[in-house]
Amino acid sequence: MKFTDEELIVVEKLEILKNEAGSHSPGIFTFRQKLPELEIKIDACFLSNPYATDLFIEYFNKEILETGKIRDLLECYPSQNGVIAEILADFLDINAKNIFIGNGAIEIIQAVIHNFTEKKIMINIPTFSSYYEYVKEGVEVVYNELSKKEDYSLDIANYIAKVKFHRPDTIVLINPNNPNGAYTRVSDVQRILDELWFVKNIIIDESFIHFAYESKNYQLVSMANLVEDNPNLIVIKSMSKDFGVAGIRAGYGIMKKEYVQTLLSNGYLWNSNGLAEYFFRLYARSDFAMRYDILRVRYIIETLEFIKELRQLPYIKVYPSMANFVLIELTNGILASEFVAKLLITYGIYIRICDDKIGLEGQFIRLASRSRSENNYIIESLKSCLEMNSVLDMVNETVV
Ligand SMILES: *Cc1c(COP(=O)(O)O)cnc(C)c1O
Repeated sequence: MKFTDEELIVVEKLEILKNEAGSHSPGIFTFRQKLPELEIKIDACFLSNPYATDLFIEYFNKEILETGKIRDLLECYPSQNGVIAEILADFLDINAKNIFIGNGAIEIIQAVIHNFTEKKIMINIPTFSSYYEYVKEGVEVVYNELSKKEDYSLDIANYIAKVKFHRPDTIVLINPNNPNGAYTRVSDVQRILDELWFVKNIIIDESFIHFAYESKNYQLVSMANLVEDNPNLIVIKSMSKDFGVAGIRAGYGIMKKEYVQTLLSNGYLWNSNGLAEYFFRLYARSDFAMRYDILRVRYIIETLEFIKELRQLPYIKVYPSMANFVLIELTNGILASEFVAKLLITYGIYIRICDDKIGLEGQFIRLASRSRSENNYIIESLKSCLEMNSVLDMVNETVV
């Protein structure tokens, strides 16, 4: 790939930013601060539903800003963990004593793994890195490598056999999975629960579940209600992606009562905040839920169209996904890091490089679905970037 001298300076700065951010990508604020010369038009790295953010802002303006209630939110303590759990209980049809509220799902992942994983955890890879990064010293991590040949989907029989062989006390299933979006059906999850009853903790991360469906009318699926009959099941849910509110840090976990009690007795009394509490109250309201569901379905349909168009592009392989993003393999010899830099510099599109994800072999990027007009711009830009650079590379080769 060809870069001008000016571009190369930016590429170098990008590399530094990426290294500083560790296993997560540098956020948009960091970019604006450290690379002011770059104009990011579209953040297709962060995986959120933009229509959901719009809806939240509409309610927030009307009910909090315009009424002056913002003062209460900032000045007062939020409700305690158990009080917010009660707000969710009716809506989710789950006993409040089974609900633990987190300052983002990440806090719940850390709390659960630190408190309840004893000796051995089994994790499918590629995955969301916190699951292996947060294990305590002395805990063994067993990786279940998802097969590239099977598009990194979960082979249930093979998975169950592996768990029976390794006997971990904790297993983790992200559904749909991040970074590839592969979905495991409810019937398969039920089979895992039935056959792996002896595993102490079965964590199912449903942070992208609002984008998944099994019926023609895109009805929401969830395993949260299975916790009652399966005391070893722990369902973790981030609100950041499908509700587009990462900034307020809201997530919850559904788990057996004793676990919630253990966590609460460790602290976590006011670990939420006023904004997150307002969000949770909204989430549990039928007027909000109805409007949210309409735009959830609209976004799913637009994402399906987006994926279909991506599949028409040359030189890439688009992996199957039931989330709001796709894993893409570059098949024409272009390096993912260079491709990402080019898209950012030339088109202002920021996407995730997946060259640091363990379990992925090849040049991978992860691309989020945005609003329809943004998706159109992404498709056009990808198309021209792929075609131009592939042609250039071919010309170079013949010259050499
Ligand atoms: C983003 C993400 C989280 C963390 O979400 P927060 O609620 O923002 O902390 C957890 N699990 C998965 C799979 C994620 O992609």
